[in-house]
Amino acid sequence: MSLLKSIPKVDKFINNKKFNGFSKSLITKLSKELIVNLREDILNNKIDAINEEELIQNVINKYNLLISPSLQSVINATGIIVHTNLGRSLINEESFNKAMKVATSYNNLEYDLEKGKRGERYSHIVKTLQALTGCEDAIVVNNNASAVFLVLNTFCKNKEAVVSRGELVEIGGSFRVPDVMSQSGAILKEIGTTNKTHPKDYRNAVNENTSMLMKVHKSNYTIEGFTSEVPYEEVVEIAKEKNVIDYYDMGSGHMIDLPFNLDQAEPSILKIMQYNPSLLSFSGDKLLGSVQAGVIIGKKELIEEIKQNQLLRMLRVDKITLALLEDNLTSYLENRLDDIPTLKMLNTSVIELEKRARSLKEAINDICECEVIHTQTLIGGGTTPNKKIPTVALSISYKNYKANKIEQMFRKENLITRIENEKVLIDFRSIKENEIYKIEAIITKVFK
Ligand SMILES: *Cc1c(COP(=O)(O)O)cnc(C)c1O
Repeated sequence: MSLLKSIPKVDKFINNKKFNGFSKSLITKLSKELIVNLREDILNNKIDAINEEELIQNVINKYNLLISPSLQSVINATGIIVHTNLGRSLINEESFNKAMKVATSYNNLEYDLEKGKRGERYSHIVKTLQALTGCEDAIVVNNNASAVFLVLNTFCKNKEAVVSRGELVEIGGSFRVPDVMSQSGAILKEIGTTNKTHPKDYRNAVNENTSMLMKVHKSNYTIEGFTSEVPYEEVVEIAKEKNVIDYYDMGSGHMIDLPFNLDQAEPSILKIMQYNPSLLSFSGDKLLGSVQAGVIIGKKELIEEIKQNQLLRMLRVDKITLALLEDNLTSYLENRLDDIPTLKMLNTSVIELEKRARSLKEAINDICECEVIHTQTLIGGGTTPNKKIPTVALSISYKNYKANKIEQMFRKENLITRIENEKVLIDFRSIKENEIYKIEAIITKVFK
C-alpha cells in the first residue's frame, strides 16, 4: 500500500523540466492516463516499484508517437507501378504546387469569373475532357466505385442492366459487381456463361424493362482457353439498335496506347471513344496517373440526368482533386507524358533501368552481395491482369540472412521490396530516379 502513496501527483509530475517545450495540455492528458493505469497496476500487484524517470520517458514516448504522422512516404521498390497498398499513382510535384496555390487561397470553384455569378464546380474539368476525348460532357466523383454506383442508380433503379457472367468480378476492397448493382437499385440481368458471351445473348436479354447494356473491365483476372466475349464496339452497336444505354466500367482506363503491346487486349479511352459510346467511367489514380477520382464521360443528356441525382452531392470532389486532375489531363492534351509519373515509369526503357541498377550496384557492392537481373513485373491496381512487363532489379543478399529478414530490415526504413525466388529484389520499374541515392543510404545504414 505504501506504493500507492508514492504515486506522483499530476500537477507536480507535469512540471518536470523534461517536459519543457512540449504541449502542456497534451502532457497533462497523457500523464493523467498514465497515473490511472499505474494505480490499477499497483492494486493488481503487477508492479512493485515506481521509477519516476521511467514514467516521464513513457509519457514522452507516447507523446512522440501521437504527434508523428501515421501516413508516411515510402520507397516503392516492388516494381508494381500502380500499387494499391502504396497509394497507387504518384502526383507530379509541379501539379501539386499548382493545386496548393488553388487550395491555399480562395478560388473560382463555383464562381463564374466572367459573369460574376455562381458557376459550376464541374465546368473546369469538362472543357479539358471534351478537348482530349471528344466527349459531349463529363462529371467527376470521388472514385470509380462511386461512378459505377451513381450511373447504375441514375439509370437502372428498378430497371435491368445486362451484364455478362464473365464480368461479374470482385475487385478487392469489397467491390463486387453484383453487390454494387443490387445496392444501387439496379436489377442485374446476367447473360452468357463464365467463359463465353455472344452478341445474341445481349440481343435476347433486352426487354421493355431494360435500361442498359453494361460492360465491366475484368481488372484482376483473365479467362483463357475456350472463351469469347463481345468487344465493347459491338455492345455499343447492339445498344443503339435496341435503343438502350451502353456503359463501360473501364476500371483503370488508360487515356492513350500503352507500351509493350498491352493495348491489343486493352483498348485505350481514346480508342473506345471512336465507337461513340453512351457512357464510360474510369479511375483517376490507376493508369490515368492522377489523383483518386472517378471520371464519367459521355452523352450530354445522360450526364445531365446524372447531375440531377441527389447522390452526386455526396460523391462530389474537392477543389484539390479538380485542380490535380485538370493538370493531369492538360499534360495529355499537350502530350507531355513525362509529366505523368505513372506513364514515365511505364515508358522507361529497360536499358535505362539497367543503367540505374548498375549505378546502385556500384555504390553498394562492398556492403552486400548484389546482382543485376532482368525479370518481369505487373503494372498492378487491376489494370492489365496477367500481363507482365519487362523490368530490371538488383537482387540483394547479405551474409546468410534469409530473404524475409532482409525484406523486414528494409521495410523498417520504409523501403518496400519484393521477394522472388527466395531473393530480395529492388525493382527499378517503380523507383523514382531521385530515390536511388536514398536507397543507397538505407542499405548502408541497414548493413553497417
Ligand atoms: C478499380 C476498379 C473499380 C474501382 O475504382 P476505384 O477508383 O478504386 O473506386 C471499379 N471497377 C473496375 C473494373 C475497377 O478495375
